[in-house]
Amino acid sequence: MDIGFIGLGKMGFPMARRLIEAGHHLTVFDTRKEPVEALRALGAEAASSPKEIADRTETVMASLPSLQASLDVATGAAGVIEGKRVRRFVDLSTVGSQMALRIHDLLGGRNIVQIDSPVSGGVAGAEKGTLAVMVSGPRAEFEAVRGALEVIGKVFFIGEKPGSGQTMKLANNFLSATAMVATSEAVVMGVKAGLDPKVMIDVINAGSGLNTASRDKFPRSVLPRSFDFGFATGLMVKDVRLALEEMKSLGLKMEVAEAVGRLWEVVIRDEGAESDFTAAIKPIEKAAGVVVGETTGIHATK
Ligand code: NAD
Repeated sequence: MDIGFIGLGKMGFPMARRLIEAGHHLTVFDTRKEPVEALRALGAEAASSPKEIADRTETVMASLPSLQASLDVATGAAGVIEGKRVRRFVDLSTVGSQMALRIHDLLGGRNIVQIDSPVSGGVAGAEKGTLAVMVSGPRAEFEAVRGALEVIGKVFFIGEKPGSGQTMKLANNFLSATAMVATSEAVVMGVKAGLDPKVMIDVINAGSGLNTASRDKFPRSVLPRSFDFGFATGLMVKDVRLALEEMKSLGLKMEVAEAVGRLWEVVIRDEGAESDFTAAIKPIEKAAGVVVGETTGIHATK
């Protein structure tokens, strides 16, 4: 099918590439030139604005880094909302249910259907087409894009209520955020007591402490200290803040989420929004006076 794709970053680029490889015809836009050129080389057409994409295609997908970017791209002056052909806007970004609802209402005023479709599974999942895709929106419109979404991952229809895909995504990312900092605390505790972190991770992964941080993030990006998993701290903190807002708007006070939220605010303050989110271990190491290394593992800093 003809698909417009806006936002060709760590997630958007591999998703767009998979869609081209699966035989879809893509028209793409990003504020950066390099990914646009790279996709043109693979057969995509380039457009000069979200509006131009929406002039040319009925289905517009987006994978954008902030709530403001999604709002601007969808509803701004040169946004999708001004397009002549567009029928549906599939937002693959994590924006939270309140922003999803706002975009839904604004687009709805112009008869454009918003299909909320946040994803989970990281850059590796985007490259392999194994993301979890959490869709909410009118069922018939979902059916129109289902085939394309199946190219990027396993598709779950969460419900027709606007924003419910986002609520699902925030529940998931709250767990991912928790796993990262909780595993960091567990391993730092062990290293402080003289345990080898590599052995610790092997034990945890063979035991009941197994989680996505111990399984994926520690072996690949924390123990080798490459801190290059592919998800920015700024994006993780965005998701944690959104999850806390979601809980608050539902009248909920959740103890673990609040503690996890406080920890991530320390991570963004100390490591910066551009750091990889696996750097979350660094403030925890610093407070404990240890560094978690790969093989010998234990390097006391003082
Ligand atoms: P990214 O920063 O790597 O990519 C965002 C892209 O959008 C960039 O190429 C940027 O140039 C482009 N962009 C920004 N503003 C734009 C605008 N106004 N118009 C057009 N293009 C614009 O971010 P990412 O890691 O790919 O994340 C994208 C979304 O996916 C976020 O909502 C994030 O929370 C979510 N997500 C990310 C991951 C991950 O592991 N990286 C996993 C699941 C979900």
